[in-house]
Parts: sequence; C-alpha cells; structure tokens
Amino acid sequence: MTIPDTVALDRSDPLASLREQFLLPEGKVYLDGNSLGALPKAAMARIEAVVRKEWGQDLISSWNSNDWINLPITVGEKIATLMGAAPGQVISCDNVSINLFKLIVTALQLQMGRKVILTQKDNFPTDLYMTEGVGALLGDQRCVTRSVPADQLVEAMDTDIALLLLTQVNFRDGRLHDIEAITRAAHANGILVLWDLAHSAGVVPLELDRWQVDMAVGCGYKFLNGGPGAPAFLYLATRHQDKVSQPLSGWLGHAEPFAFEPGYRPAPGVSRYLGGTPGILGMSALDAALDVFDGFTIDQIRGKSSAMTALFIDGVRSASECSECRVVTPLVPEERGSQVSLAHPRAYGIAQALIEAGVVVDFRAPDIVRFGFSPLYNSYRDVADALRQLLRILAAGEHLQARFDTRAKVT
Ligand SMILES: *Cc1c(COP(=O)(O)O)cnc(C)c1O
Repeated sequence: MTIPDTVALDRSDPLASLREQFLLPEGKVYLDGNSLGALPKAAMARIEAVVRKEWGQDLISSWNSNDWINLPITVGEKIATLMGAAPGQVISCDNVSINLFKLIVTALQLQMGRKVILTQKDNFPTDLYMTEGVGALLGDQRCVTRSVPADQLVEAMDTDIALLLLTQVNFRDGRLHDIEAITRAAHANGILVLWDLAHSAGVVPLELDRWQVDMAVGCGYKFLNGGPGAPAFLYLATRHQDKVSQPLSGWLGHAEPFAFEPGYRPAPGVSRYLGGTPGILGMSALDAALDVFDGFTIDQIRGKSSAMTALFIDGVRSASECSECRVVTPLVPEERGSQVSLAHPRAYGIAQALIEAGVVVDFRAPDIVRFGFSPLYNSYRDVADALRQLLRILAAGEHLQARFDTRAKVT
C-alpha cells in the first residue's frame, strides 16, 4: 500500500487556514476531537481576559456589565446557527445528561396518556441510564423504556410511544441516522423526537427547524471545541416551549429570578431550561471557540470531513497490513459522521501503540479503535500520517506487547 500524497489536497483545502487558530501539540496527530476538541487560541485569550478583568476587576458587576447573565442565551444562539435553528430555541447549559433528563420529562408531560420511551439498544449509555432514572422516579405507570436494534426502530413505532430518543451519530461505529426521515416516521405515529447531537453539532449539516425536530441536546466539548466539561446545549422547538414547565425548576429559569418570589414561575421560552448559576469560565471558552466557525459553512466542513474519512477508509481497506481490521463505520459517506472505527481483537493495543507514536486516538470497549477527524484543524496530511503509523504498528506487531494487556481507567 502506498500512502496517498496529500500535498495537493491540503493546498486546495478552503479550511486549511483554520488550523492556525488552534494550539496543537508539536509533533502529534490529534484524532480525538470527537471526544475532546482541540484548544482554540481565542478561547485561551478569552479565559485569560475573563479571569483577569471580568472576575478580577469587575467582579460582581460583570453579571450586568460583561453580560454574564445572558451568556447561556448568546452561546445558545451561536450554536443554533450551526444547526438550522431560528432564534429563541437553543440554550447552553449543564451537561448532556442533565439536559436529557429535563427534556425526557418534558416530553412525557407533553404526551399525557403515553408512557413509552423508544430508543436504540446501543445508544450512548448516558442516554439509556437517564431514561432508566426517569423510569425509576416516575414509576412504570408513567415511564417505560423500550430499546431495540437500530434496524427495528421504524417498525417498533406505535401509538403507545411518547418519545423517540436517539443519537444521530453512534459513538462506537460512527453510523449516522437520517434525522429527517426518522422524525417524519415518528410524527406519523404521534411520537415526539429527542435527538442527541453530541457527535453531530459543528460537523454534520443539521436543519432542526425544517425537519420539524421537537427536541435535541448536544456537547460543547467535542466538535465545538469548548474545552473539557464545556457546557452542553439543548434545543426545544418554539411550538412546545410554553406548554409545560421543566422538572429542575431552578431560580435562573424563573420568570424573575431577582424578584425572589417563594413560588416558581417559569421564564417564557427556552430560558426556563436554565437551572442554577452557569459556570462562566467554561461558557466563555465555548463562546470564543464558536467564533472559529465564522465565515465558513457547515457544508464546507462536512465536505472536508467526508473526504478525510474516505481517504482513511480507502487506505485501511487497500493495505494488506490491515487485513485483520474491520471497518465498522459505513463505507457510504452520507451514512457516517466524522469518525472511522476499526474493529480488531487487539484494538486496545493498537490504540495505545498509536498514542505512543504520536497519533492520538481512543479505544471503545469491546474492540474498537476510533479515529476522529475534525475538519477545522486536521489536515489531509494528518490522515496520511495516521495511516502510515497504523500500518507500521501492525506490520511490526507493536500492538501485541504484553504491557497493553492492562487498560487505564479512561480509554
Ligand atoms: C459525549 C456524549 C455525551 C456526553 O454526556 P455528558 O453528560 O455531557 O457527559 C452524551 N451523549 C453522547 C451520544 C455522547 O457522545
């Protein structure tokens, strides 16, 4: 197998200049932006400014003078523009798990008389755990979870189902659901949809309004590059917003937090999904990180993403060194997100050997190595370098070393 020549691809890449906007470790190929996005230089400068001036000097007045109080909304609106959502429907807050809780309960309240949550067996675990938690809280008269394999979702839809909870891009194999088609099928049965966009936002074109999506959640720290533990976001379509309250009725979601009334009155619109005080440092970093997208379209980003994953898949499939690797990510670009997953019996050893060789990837049990491609800062040369190291490791048997038999806590 010859490693593809990527010089021309990088030279004609309309996004190539964006790499400069990130601080990347010297001598490494970072292919884990689907787990933790790289650091935008603007986020670093912003945190420094928020700490020194806004916190250090302006102190409490910053809630007004530096508009900290509206940050969940301003950040939410920036994310909305990446997802085809008109203003007033996205807010940045909490993490994905907590936002799932709020929206699952909202859906059950909107769907009185229905109690089933339909989801996919291999959905991301937190999505499954949260439905279990809501079920334990409300009891099985009000909430029952039904999980089925991906290919049985549509036939499992019936009029008992209150909510369909799915992740668009599967975290293990990178397979991508057609949100528009599945949402339409759900609505035909009176089912609301809640999409987890953790691996989609910032890298997959989304038209949440046009597709009539009811609810969505997603991550700030993956392809949006907001930093470790960055706040997540939630989307709730305008048509659902003022019908029910949300279960975590905290004071910042109150209509008038500073009236300090003893009773809860939800704020109008999506703001009621705020609970307590947001972490301003983390949210400021996300706010700055989102400006990297300015001037570029999601279609450009998706185009480069598909080209990078295709280049990598073709390389793996044509190399005799990789004969034991199975590409579990769909081969059709429209059916996958921005990652390539390889199944291999010694996947953990491969991931560790790659990391030692400077190619940062991750492992997901039981047997998957994931290569995440972030079009904002990865180059086509990164793809070729990763391929070159993978083939070298497999040919030399580096992944078989006994020290890779023990797994670290975070894989
Ligand atoms: C990363 C990820 C999450 C993360 O959830 P948090 O509660 O924010 O930690 C949730 N869902 C999916 C599908 C993910 O990939």
